Amino acid sequence: MDIIIVGAGIGGLSAALSLALAGHKVRVLESASALAEIGAGVQLTPTSTRHFWKWGLGPDILEHSVLPESFNVRRGDNGELLGTVPFEGFEERYGAPYIVIHRADIHQILHKHAVNAKVQVILNSRVAKYDFEAGSLQLANGEELSADLIVAADGINSSARKSFLSETDDGTEKTGWAAYRTTALVADIKANPDTAQLVAKHNCNCWVGDKSSVMTYLVKNSQVLNIVLSHPDNLDTSEWTPRQFKDELQQLFGHWDPSMKALLSMTSEVQNWPVYQVRSLPKWVSESGKFVLMGDAAHAMAFYLSMGVSMAVEDAEVLTECISLYQRSEKTLGQAMKVFETVRKERAEIVRDASLNAGNILHLPQGAAQEQRDRALKDDGVSAGTCVSDSDYVVRTSYGIGDQQTRDWCYGYDVLAKVHAEWK
Ligand SMILES: Cc1cc2nc3c(=O)[nH]c(=O)nc-3n(C[C@H](O)[C@H](O)[C@H](O)COP(=O)(O)OP(=O)(O)OC[C@H]3O[C@@H](n4cnc5c(N)ncnc54)[C@H](O)[C@@H]3O)c2cc1C
Repeated sequence: MDIIIVGAGIGGLSAALSLALAGHKVRVLESASALAEIGAGVQLTPTSTRHFWKWGLGPDILEHSVLPESFNVRRGDNGELLGTVPFEGFEERYGAPYIVIHRADIHQILHKHAVNAKVQVILNSRVAKYDFEAGSLQLANGEELSADLIVAADGINSSARKSFLSETDDGTEKTGWAAYRTTALVADIKANPDTAQLVAKHNCNCWVGDKSSVMTYLVKNSQVLNIVLSHPDNLDTSEWTPRQFKDELQQLFGHWDPSMKALLSMTSEVQNWPVYQVRSLPKWVSESGKFVLMGDAAHAMAFYLSMGVSMAVEDAEVLTECISLYQRSEKTLGQAMKVFETVRKERAEIVRDASLNAGNILHLPQGAAQEQRDRALKDDGVSAGTCVSDSDYVVRTSYGIGDQQTRDWCYGYDVLAKVHAEWK
């Protein structure tokens, strides 16, 4: 098939690679003049790395990433270890490792492999208008293009989603959380006795406090510490100076664990990032099946389960499988894409809701609910009870990755089995 993908983010490039490897002709239209990713690091769960491995990205990813030893959750005020999840055994259990990597690195690796698979990535190409049923579009420069299928992977602020569903409602909603994103140089951290132990091991560390948290992990061959500091989304920081950001970090977190004050004095530029999610949409595909939404455009979610990339990668795999089943069957493209929508909407929307629940649990104030969370962090979620249906993960009283059942639910999902069951 001749396929156009709109957006060369991690989601769009994943779909491009997966579809090109299956033999399709793929063009990716990207509005930016150069490929770039916002933010420094990204955690890749085995849900995404399993597919990246299948597509042949494993050696390149391993060359540029850190395999952390464990995910540690600590009390914000004194650093006490509340729970630890060793990553050893993840590969055996889920088929691929849990990885942390710089966004630019995974983006470049995906781009290199997509180009090697004959994907055409066309920069400076902002899509301005779509004909959703005909499978055609118009670029901002007036050029018209058409294809057998148009895949909109144009991110959380998707203009495709807006014009497909409603020009007046952009489909997003605030989660109530925001994140300061910054980095610090490992050389500086090592040189200071107050902070040196923070990077002595390759761990993901998450400090938790009342309505806030600090997440750190190493990227760029362990030379840079990625730092994400969550807080309530109640400030307009659009006019802030770098000094104001630094002062705010010290104000919010400087009195935490003694290492935090020193660490925050070493940070580079700070950006504030209000966390939005995409509401459940009435549809993701057009009647003819010639237009589909995927990735953050369809289901952007809070990052507290680190499943955003994983959901886009699952979308890519399901899209490829649905097209390949369509080409061997009597179904119409519209019917085939409906299978894509059914399988992906259900999964992505429940993972979105569970992600926000994980953020809310992480930021609980002192009290009985926080004590329950901390018990569950100690016993790997056993005391949080047994989930019998997907909806149980949305109200779970344990914290995401620190819970064996949630890990299995997120990382052990067999997306192709789901497609084949739905196809029948
Ligand atoms: C603070 C934070 C931390 C996160 N941490 C994690 C994490 O640890 N793990 C994880 O899995 N996920 C994480 N996420 C989520 C993850 O970053 C996203 O889910 C993922 O990057 C989405 O990829 P995408 O390709 O769908 O969208 P995007 O990356 O937004 O890509 C969209 C692309 O489309 C292009 N585009 C837009 N409009 C047009 C147009 N009209 N024409 C042409 N091109 C267009 C854009 O320029 C862009 O390149 C985090 C998110 C945030 C905010």
